[in-house]
Amino acid sequence: MRTPVMEVLRKSRSEVRAAVMDDYSRRCAGFSWGEARGWLDGLPGGAGLNIAHEAVDRHATGTQGERTALRWLGKQGRQRDISYRELASLSSRFANVLGELGVPPGAGVFLLAGRIPELYVAVLGALKHTAVVTPLFSAFGPEPIVTRMTLGEGRVLVTTASLYRRKIAPIRDRLGALEHVLVVRDDDGELPEDTHDLVARLDAASDVYTIPATDDETPALLHFTSGTTGKPKGALHVHQAVVAHYATARFALDLRPEDIYWCTADPGWVTGTSYGIIAPLCIGATLVVDEAEFDAEHWYDVLESEGVTVWYTAPTAIRMMMRGGSERARSRRYPALRFIASVGEPLNPQAVHWGVEAFGLPIHDNWWQTETGGIMIANFASLDIRPGAMGKPLPGIQAGVLRHLPDGGVEEVTRYGEEGELALRVGWPSMFRTYLNEDARYRRCFVDGWYLTGDLVRRDPEDYYWFVGRADDMIKSAGHLIGPFEVESALMEHPAVAEVGVIGKPDPVIGEIVKAFVALKPGFVSDESLRRELLGFARRRLGPAVAPKEIDIQSSLPRTRSGKIMRRLLKARELGLPEGDTSTLESAR
Ligand code: ATP
Ligand code: MG
Repeated sequence: MRTPVMEVLRKSRSEVRAAVMDDYSRRCAGFSWGEARGWLDGLPGGAGLNIAHEAVDRHATGTQGERTALRWLGKQGRQRDISYRELASLSSRFANVLGELGVPPGAGVFLLAGRIPELYVAVLGALKHTAVVTPLFSAFGPEPIVTRMTLGEGRVLVTTASLYRRKIAPIRDRLGALEHVLVVRDDDGELPEDTHDLVARLDAASDVYTIPATDDETPALLHFTSGTTGKPKGALHVHQAVVAHYATARFALDLRPEDIYWCTADPGWVTGTSYGIIAPLCIGATLVVDEAEFDAEHWYDVLESEGVTVWYTAPTAIRMMMRGGSERARSRRYPALRFIASVGEPLNPQAVHWGVEAFGLPIHDNWWQTETGGIMIANFASLDIRPGAMGKPLPGIQAGVLRHLPDGGVEEVTRYGEEGELALRVGWPSMFRTYLNEDARYRRCFVDGWYLTGDLVRRDPEDYYWFVGRADDMIKSAGHLIGPFEVESALMEHPAVAEVGVIGKPDPVIGEIVKAFVALKPGFVSDESLRRELLGFARRRLGPAVAPKEIDIQSSLPRTRSGKIMRRLLKARELGLPEGDTSTLESAR
């Protein structure tokens, strides 16, 4: 029997509400970023805000220092717990290694490794040294590595011996700026030529390091966007961003020092750095790091055996878990789990309901981008969840729904429910400072004091924001503007459907027709009768103007490495056009 979802949503909300310090309106009232800055320590002697100091050093002394900062779950059942004191010491050693190699502040330090402890040590150590840090997906092939390291002028690379041999050695002469490679030995081979043994260097280095004075505007992180809509852009973030990392983790994830927190995102994607490294450590929580790739059964194990309390994941993972039904999830116990959040793509209402069935908890959707550096809009712990809505703007964030005017200006739409481009008033601390080497493109993102996000939304009278679609993905059919999310969510309600991507296919009569690509749950067979059933199902739910006219059933849909369905690729393939930049395409799953 189906759980009465709305009842659970209400119950869960009131329980959480009792536990959180403030409700939404109290949090927003009187909030200022200046106040939030005061929640952090700053470097000794007024030397500024440094992300790594806030994340580790300030928790490293006294009994606090003994607490586990990072619990690493390795692939072969290995496990390593690193305390805050140890993480502070290891990251200082890494900063000293950079100093010994003569790496100056501001230099580009790239990381190409799976989720191993040294990756976390290197990110934090490089931030201490005020280098500019870029984690890459370890699954990247040669071209995405060369493009990104060239753009970011990577002078240092941290990787593993096996990845070095397979991926870097063949392209090393194309990495013109690269001076030092630090490798973690992960096989029995010799240390590759022209590289340093990272662990040996760490062992030999001093663990005393004084973080240089760090200005608010000192560059800290260079993150590449997911490449969902085109060639990835390099968004540059500064140390001041830590104010937003910390505050948003409290507001949107309800994260507290006693939490066992698991963010499933890879550090190669901005979520895996902002909320997979920095924010939870700034709070003083224990971070679970799982080295393994996605596997539903294993994930249930981690949630249960580690006693995860706060879990931050993404719709694509949730949909893959949903494929197996909620019984598998319900065969475990998660007494500690109290908050689940999701980001990266719209979260179908079906997924929010599944959270209740599977875990007894709803899933809190939140919205942000590589460019915003941190969560901007969220279903807060203390709010009613509206399944299908992204939530409300965080304290300190002023969002608007804009209409573009013919003269190039913008105005806010005044009617609730009207679609427009989601925009944010500039000035929050984690805002990107440029797209590297693409200044004109950066400047085009701003109009009249607004940052334009490229996403279309609606707002309801209680100020919840509802995602409609990316501006690039909107479908114009017979005079209607149709957002893919609405169509995808309707099809997701069919029991056979695991995943959907919807595009507009050019049509001489009505402009575009809606076409859906569907992947099925196990046990369902792709045949003509199911295809017809899906067409009818969508038509009944959406009406003939919005429902897809064509449905293709595929074994899987193209996704970015951050788990986003690449609609532009579905469209290019449908129309026989060039595929464009596919550097972030996850081909092997
Ligand atoms: P690119 O900019 O290279 O095309 P991308 O926009 O997918 O790639 P990210 O910065 O990783 O790169 O993703 C941000 C985008 O993801 C948002 O602009 C939005 O379209 C989508 N997104 C993130 N969270 C949500 C959410 N909760 N609901 C709907 N969409 C979301
Ligand atoms: Mg984008």
